[in-house]
Amino acid sequence: MASSRKYQQQRRRLVEELHERGIDDKRVLKAIAKVPRHAFVEPALRNRAYRDEALPIGKRQTISQPFTVAYQTMLLDVQPDDRVLEVGTGSGYQAAVLCEMGARVFTIERHRALLQRATDVLEDLGYRVVSRAGDGSLGWPAFAPYDGIVVTAGAADVPQPLMEQLRVPSAKHDGGRLVVPVGESGGQVMRRVYRTGEDSYEQESHHRFRFVPLVGAEGGLEQEETE
Ligand code: SAM
Repeated sequence: MASSRKYQQQRRRLVEELHERGIDDKRVLKAIAKVPRHAFVEPALRNRAYRDEALPIGKRQTISQPFTVAYQTMLLDVQPDDRVLEVGTGSGYQAAVLCEMGARVFTIERHRALLQRATDVLEDLGYRVVSRAGDGSLGWPAFAPYDGIVVTAGAADVPQPLMEQLRVPSAKHDGGRLVVPVGESGGQVMRRVYRTGEDSYEQESHHRFRFVPLVGAEGGLEQEETE
């Protein structure tokens, strides 16, 4: 009980810090204020869970920095009931934030062991997601089209299959948005791609970040062993 109060206070301070750093989407801040990030990190690292830093989660992967999660979620412009695909489940934290935003979440992770742990934590906390192990650089065509796709690993270029799985705009729905860090392994620019028609897209570039690499058929980086 005392520890959950302690985490709540730390979470509140983190939200203030993110706001000061320019995250001004109230719905995103509200979601971050709700998700217990400490549940997604190893017990030995829980005292660092609400610092604005990435932390190791095993398999040489990380839970992204809260600022990065907030920034990507803000660019994705998630609306309640949106279908959102996350590429790179990692710890499951970003998926939980998307659930708090009211999205229907589909998530893919290439490391089976990470996916298992993430889905166990998500289930324990009552977050419902549809997940699978595999190469997310190809997207997940079975559940397309998506209102939002967020890639949480750095790609060499924007993966074409992900663009094709974005929703085409119609009278009822806006076009889908894809948020993906693109560039060399040393650092990437956050790209936002909008689907504006059957064969048309618009792209914007945002801040620079440094992500672990997106590997796989469309990641642009060499495939390595997953287990
Ligand atoms: N979103 C995660 C979170 O909230 O903890 C952070 C993910 S971590 C920065 C990036 C993840 O992408 C890693 O777990 C990595 O294994 C995964 N990944 C890299 N390439 C992938 C691919 N082609 N398909 C699926 N997952 C991939």
